Amino acid sequence: MNKEQRRKYYLKNRDRILTNQKRYVENHREKVKNDKRKWQEKNRERLKKYGKRWREKNPEKIKEFTKRYYSRPDIKQQKLEYNRQYRKNHPRKDYQHKKKLRFEILKRDNFTCQYCGRKAPNVELQIDHIQPLSEDGERYKKENLITACSDCNQGKGDVLLSELKVV
Ligand SMILES: [Zn+2]
Repeated sequence: MNKEQRRKYYLKNRDRILTNQKRYVENHREKVKNDKRKWQEKNRERLKKYGKRWREKNPEKIKEFTKRYYSRPDIKQQKLEYNRQYRKNHPRKDYQHKKKLRFEILKRDNFTCQYCGRKAPNVELQIDHIQPLSEDGERYKKENLITACSDCNQGKGDVLLSELKVV
């Protein structure tokens, strides 16, 4: 059977074929699911490309879908629930780590602003980047972090320590 014949056969027996298909899917739910997943994994790149092309071609449709999605009354509740679950499953390890690093830097610098020498209770201490992030300074490296009071930190902006000429 060539393509044209197949098409004709399909159109003629469409109802029967679809009913059979439906019955097959219902009786082999797990298998169909697995096969689909396997196929998707195998054709991931192709699907990605196809999806991208479709999205580029149909920006209006995407807008419409989004609008319809967010106009659903239950969606807000669902989103809240999702966020709650996400927080539960992804505790903020990263956050804890940052807190610890911050304390280590403060301790190393003896809770003193390294620019003007003022100490903790008198001024609000912050952690500053020696090489600014905007100039590819490293965010979490101890060698690139320094204790600074909020005055010195804000006044400095993105100026390098070496340019500031602090002894
Ligand atoms: Zn200072």
